[in-house]
Amino acid sequence: MINRRQWLYGVGAIAGAAAQPGGVPPPNAKQPEQAHPYPLNLSDFVPTSMLQVGQTRVERARFPVIDFHTHITTSANSQSGVALNSERKFLGTAEELLPVMDRKNVRAMVNLTGGYDQGLGETIAQYDRAFVGRFYSFTEPCYERWKEPTYPRVQAEAVEQAYRQGARGLKILKTLGLYLRENITSGELVKIDDPRFDPMWDACGQLNLPVAIHVSDPLAFFTPTDRFNERYEELNHHPDWSFYGRDFPSNAELLAARNRVIARHPRTQFVVLHVGNFAENLANVAENLDRFPNMSVDIAARIGELGRQPRTARRFFETYQDRILFGTDATPHGDQFPQQVFNDQLYEIYYRFLETEDEYFDYAPAKIPPQGRWRIYGINLPETILRKVYSENAARQLKVAS
Ligand SMILES: [Zn+2]
Repeated sequence: MINRRQWLYGVGAIAGAAAQPGGVPPPNAKQPEQAHPYPLNLSDFVPTSMLQVGQTRVERARFPVIDFHTHITTSANSQSGVALNSERKFLGTAEELLPVMDRKNVRAMVNLTGGYDQGLGETIAQYDRAFVGRFYSFTEPCYERWKEPTYPRVQAEAVEQAYRQGARGLKILKTLGLYLRENITSGELVKIDDPRFDPMWDACGQLNLPVAIHVSDPLAFFTPTDRFNERYEELNHHPDWSFYGRDFPSNAELLAARNRVIARHPRTQFVVLHVGNFAENLANVAENLDRFPNMSVDIAARIGELGRQPRTARRFFETYQDRILFGTDATPHGDQFPQQVFNDQLYEIYYRFLETEDEYFDYAPAKIPPQGRWRIYGINLPETILRKVYSENAARQLKVAS
């Protein structure tokens, strides 16, 4: 309790000083510290939570896991967000990944960005074929041939070739919708539902290859990077992630185009990554899952979103338990994105979120929450749902035993 004199002093020092003539202190006057809150840079603000609640360390997942969303390889040559040839960069060796996988009970990693042609062949040789059952690689569209008049057929054939090489699905990065342009890196943006891709989507359906599709991004990336933006620090670190202004379509336009693709290709399975890329609005994701029986979602890099709405998230998992896949977006040595850096801690956070009722913990292994300054709550899923989310739903998409 403060007494009346202290209260008066506080009010006078902070609010009243400027209003009273003669009450303004000289610029360098020393004042008692508590009376002068000083400005603090947001980046210097690293508060320690004083909350004292139970903490559970989940070192291993309760059941074997298929991580449906990882990036072990990536394009070695891209410009303005578009891969320009098939060459791959290898981000981590199988020998360095396997011990972490074994410790964390990760049975297999799906390497979504496996590329195409020779790059895909090398990827499959180094991971999928060298360690059977531990790695599954997906192919990606060959945008370098986009301008060829026969692209629709060429791309459908490329998917068939990738299938023969051993690819387990097709991955679409947000390149489609946000980076790929009519002249590849210049001109008008190409729309997600451009009919020139129709043969590619159909080829996936015919070959029974799932399409893992990333469309759009967090809603905050489509609003100004200013003091009202809940992902201000993230966008400040990665200004190229902002899709506000210029000729970018809105989040709603991107999702609508994606939905037209899913509707037009009912025989093709779409795993819409990052919780359908609208984890901020699970009602919207649920509506689309209800509309499209050929749609599933993964949870990669979105436990920050799911965990800050634990009751809504838990209901979402209960309702769509057969269509939610475990994924992390794990990237070996991806230290500049703590929410997806491949390490023990990252997996432990996901397991803690899914398996415990712990409260108010970090969603990423980082001092400052990298996607926004909030913390998350566990949803304590029952074992039947855990088994489905950890591996059974992914095994069905990959056509492997669960
Ligand atoms: Zn990803």
